[in-house]
Amino acid sequence: MTVSPARPVPALGTGPQDLSVWPASASAGTDGDVTVAGVSLREAASRFGTPVYLLDEDEVRARCRAYAAAFPGADVVYAAKALLCRAVARWVREEGLGLDVCSAGELELAVTGGFPAERIVLHGNAKTPEDLRTAVRLGVGRIVIDSVTEIARLATLVAPGDRQQVLLRVVPGVAAGAHPAVRTGTDDQKFGLSIGDGSAEHAVEKVLGQPRLELVGLHCHIGSQIADVEPYLVAVRRMVALLATIRDRHGIALPQLDLGGGHAVPYRAGEPALDLTALAGAVRTELAGACADSDLPVPRLTVEPGRAVVGPAGVVLYHVLAVKDMGGRTLVAVDGGMSDNPRPALYGVRYAPLLVGRPSPAPLRPVTVVGRHCEAGDVITADALLPADVRPGDLLAVPVAGAYHLSMASTYNMIGRPPLVGLHRGTARVLVRRESLADMEMRDIGE
Ligand SMILES: *Cc1c(COP(=O)(O)O)cnc(C)c1O
Repeated sequence: MTVSPARPVPALGTGPQDLSVWPASASAGTDGDVTVAGVSLREAASRFGTPVYLLDEDEVRARCRAYAAAFPGADVVYAAKALLCRAVARWVREEGLGLDVCSAGELELAVTGGFPAERIVLHGNAKTPEDLRTAVRLGVGRIVIDSVTEIARLATLVAPGDRQQVLLRVVPGVAAGAHPAVRTGTDDQKFGLSIGDGSAEHAVEKVLGQPRLELVGLHCHIGSQIADVEPYLVAVRRMVALLATIRDRHGIALPQLDLGGGHAVPYRAGEPALDLTALAGAVRTELAGACADSDLPVPRLTVEPGRAVVGPAGVVLYHVLAVKDMGGRTLVAVDGGMSDNPRPALYGVRYAPLLVGRPSPAPLRPVTVVGRHCEAGDVITADALLPADVRPGDLLAVPVAGAYHLSMASTYNMIGRPPLVGLHRGTARVLVRRESLADMEMRDIGE
């Protein structure tokens, strides 16, 4: 890794007791321990081992409810790629949300776990024949078409006499999102059909020419970790303009508009979150105004939050294995890393690890928390503030680990993916077990 000379303490630094980005249930004790949902992190680490992902069920449910309350009359669809297991699918289902999936795998897991297929939306810029077949077989509610070739391919899978509801994924030409890898609203990335070059309109014609497909609306997802309302309002105006063009050309007013997800959450104290209530109010007003201007009925809205539902509900625990001073920096190495959290390497995200499990009178100092993988880029956070006496055997907790952690985990270095443990009112139970060497050996059948 590139070890930079000691930098000034970042302005976003947090004190050891700052739990502002943690689940609402988190509470710090005087003994240095922290509880989440009434469960001691020290006890969780000794019972389940580390690394371990913890997930606060009530926090997930509260976030689902906040969306339902902010967007009355809209479909709130949880983006399963952020984190999917049977328990999370059940919580989301019980809270009345839909589910957005990107593969036959996510779809099968949800449906076999009891998620109603009609509340599921299938996405994907390059859906495989297996994805499409599974979606049609299980009766998925809506499929979001992402390319012209997909139209005929899907139509041939639908039984004569049936109609599959579809939306078209459109690129509204809005650049938003915290990193180039998550900006999906412009013409220079792989998702969707461009409004600018006419391919969106061409696709509309193609879908309308397929009697087994029912075009119910347009979809866009402009990016991820978006903290401002404005990009969504620009997207609304462009999408309504396209709805008006479709009405003028084909005489139909499409009844649905799906605005995707991408709502930002803070990973460190002081970072911005997207204000849900402000977003919902502004989108409603913008949509009503734009539709009135074009003399269109207001379409039913869908939003697809992933990160904002599960991200802040998760915490990952690590043990410190080694501490060393190199190049003027202190490196704190833990027993996980890029295999359980590739996000720092992918998007340069920074986290705020906290020493938990023992009190420390030592002053805070900036350190680099690194993983145990054989890559110099295996850095969890380059400018963490930890007590100066941090040492091997200490427990570190990293908050906001609920989204895009387990779902992006790999078997790199055959460490095995950590378990996911659900926390609920003082109890902890394993939702997804730790991946063992036996699991990995079982797949290795050659010689
Ligand atoms: C990833 C994704 C989402 C969710 O994004 P978040 O940033 O987790 O809210 C929603 N819709 C689509 C189509 C996506 O690809």
